[in-house]
This record gives sequence, C-alpha cells and structure tokens, in this order.
Amino acid sequence: MVQRPIYLDCQATTPVDERVLTAMLPYFTEHFGNAASASHLYGWEAAAAVQQARETLAEAIGAAPEEMIFTSGATEANNLAIKGVAEANLHKGRHIVAVITEHSAVLDPCRYLQTLGFDVTILPVKPDGLLALDTLTQALRPDTLLVSVMAANNEIGVLQPLAAIGALCHERQILFHTDAAQAIGKIPLDVAAMQIDLMSLTAHKVYGPKGVGALYVRRRNPRAQLAPQLHGGGHERGLRSGTLYVPQIVGMAKAVELAIAEMPQETERLTHLRDQLWQQLSQVSDIYLNGHATQRLAGNLNISVAGINGQALLLGLQPVVAVSSGSACSSTHTAPSHVLKALGHTNELAYASIRFGLGRFNTKQEIDQVAECAIATIRSLRQVAKV
Ligand SMILES: *Cc1c(COP(=O)(O)O)cnc(C)c1O
Repeated sequence: MVQRPIYLDCQATTPVDERVLTAMLPYFTEHFGNAASASHLYGWEAAAAVQQARETLAEAIGAAPEEMIFTSGATEANNLAIKGVAEANLHKGRHIVAVITEHSAVLDPCRYLQTLGFDVTILPVKPDGLLALDTLTQALRPDTLLVSVMAANNEIGVLQPLAAIGALCHERQILFHTDAAQAIGKIPLDVAAMQIDLMSLTAHKVYGPKGVGALYVRRRNPRAQLAPQLHGGGHERGLRSGTLYVPQIVGMAKAVELAIAEMPQETERLTHLRDQLWQQLSQVSDIYLNGHATQRLAGNLNISVAGINGQALLLGLQPVVAVSSGSACSSTHTAPSHVLKALGHTNELAYASIRFGLGRFNTKQEIDQVAECAIATIRSLRQVAKV
C-alpha cells in the first residue's frame, strides 16, 4: 500500500475527532427531528440538542446563549456580520475598516460594499503581520460603523491584539467584529474582556465537521444591529433562516468543548513540535519565518526560502507531506499570497513559501520526517539551480 502523506495542513481543515463523530451520529438517525417542530418529541429532542450546543459555545467565548447565531461556517458568519451591520446602520455612516491580511471571506464582502457606495479602509500591517494600534486609531472616523480584525491569521498564524482593538472601538461607539475561525479552541477568547461585538466561528478548523459555524452577536452594551442576509422561516432570531443542521451543530459544540478542555497541554505540545521543526529547518541558509515569532498560533509555521521555485518545493514535498503554499484558498491562483505580500515580501519570496499547519494528531516522529524531507528537497533544488 502506498503511504499517505503526513497531514500538516491544519489551517485549511482538520479531521473530525472520533469523539465528535460519536456525539453527532444519533442526530442523523434516531434523533433526526427538526428543531423548529414544536409539537412532538422529535422536534423537542432536536431543539434540546441545539440549545445545549448553543450554551456550550456561548460559554466558550463568555457570551449568552441567545447571542449565538448558527451559520454554515465562518464565510457566512463574516458575510452576515459585515453586510448585516452595513445594511442595518445606514443612518449612522458608511465607513468600514478592515485589515489587508484578512481572509477573503472578510475582504470580499468589504469590496462588495464598496461597489454599493460604502467607504472601506483596508489597513496595512507591520512586517511581523501585527496591526499597529496607531494605524487603526488614525483610520477611525465619526462615521465608522465597523472594524473587522481577525483573531488569528490563517496563513501566518499571527494573533492580533483583540482587547486593545476592542477598547479603541468601544471608546468611539464603533462595532468590533473578529473572524475567529482559526482562533476558537486554540487561544482563550472572551467577548466581554476583549470588547468584541461580533465574532465569526467555524467547526472544521478545530476537529469538528465542515459546513457549520456561528456568529456571536452582542445583545447589549452595545446591541449590535444586523440585517439578515438569508430570508425565510425566521430561524435564529430572524437573522439566519433555514432548518438547523442539528448533527453538525452538536458536533461543533463537542469539538469546541474538547479543544478548550485540552488547550493548555495541546498548546504546549504543539509549540514544542513547531519550534523543533523551525529549529531543524533553520539549518538551511536563507530561510525566513513569516509572521511574528511568538504572537502566533502554536500549530503554525510559515516559511519562505530564498533562491528556489516555490512550486518545485511543494512538488518535492508532496509525496511525504501535505502542506500548502500561502493560503489554501488561493493556492489555485498563481498570484503570490496577499498576506505575504502585505509583510513587504518581494514576489519571489512570497512565492517560495510553505505553510506547515500542525495539529492534534501529529507526532514528533512525523515532524522529524518532514524536517528531513524539507531540508533534502531544498538542498537538491538549490543544487539544480546552481548548474
Ligand atoms: C477557514 C476560514 C474561513 C472560512 O471558514 P468556512 O467555515 O470554511 O467558511 C474564514 N476565515 C478564516 C480566518 C479561516 O481560516
């Protein structure tokens, strides 16, 4: 049998944890009810499971259960947050602020709003990928409706200073949205302490199923006003119509609960593995770490290698390790990653970049094997380049 490559692409997606799958299974078959069916046991069982999941997820981020709106994932949550706020607050202003390193699921809704006449400011980042607070302060205006800054970057893993950003926004009565797709279950999140008004979540980056996520919507101090983007039966307080996908919702809650319970040990384990990988790779000359060295996700290592073709490197690694170059979402494009370019890289360096996304099921033995393969591949490519 052919050995399958070692999976190191956990910022793209993760496998469903067996414990999550076990929790989900009864909700496909025995407890298959529609959570909106109020007149019989099948509906009540489904509604009770959804309520339990809502409480678990709310508790995970310091919110109230009624503040959690289930969606199909973080893309939909981001769209609902950004377009929803814009549409519901036209009387207050038309200015929206986001950051250049955001996921396309934030940048594209912003660009769409621009075509409708909204004024969008896209902020640069420092060479380490962090947003400078004075850059943000200078961009804020009396007519600013919303600031959107991601919690953890999907390419370089950089963690933005959420609490400081939240404070700046709230001093000025501006709503603060954060895309926490990569952060939930990996770093502590608290919507009260961080003064977050809207937070996008997804399950599949944290060992839950694909196709489910949630948007936290603050109900008081201040109340975040949103216009729904999907109209229909009025589910989810009218903000997101559609029959709830009960097994996925149960799975999402289980996944987040497990990740939070295991966070301290897992962060330590992954940090150690990640640092070990970097230490081994640093034997190679002209290799660079992308993004802040410590303000980053434990499982993320993003590197650029000078003097080689990035596509050739990826091809060389393919039989041994499953990784992405730049962001998974843009790896079908030939353009270099917008995130790496935002760090001030030349096109050439941005091309020759690899994102290693380590996760729950990776072992030290695998990391050693990957390091060995990467070093050998880089050396042989450089050898070829010389002749
Ligand atoms: C994966 C990801 C998304 C998209 O989430 P889906 O649930 O796949 O729609 C959005 N933002 C970030 C930062 C992500 O990593």
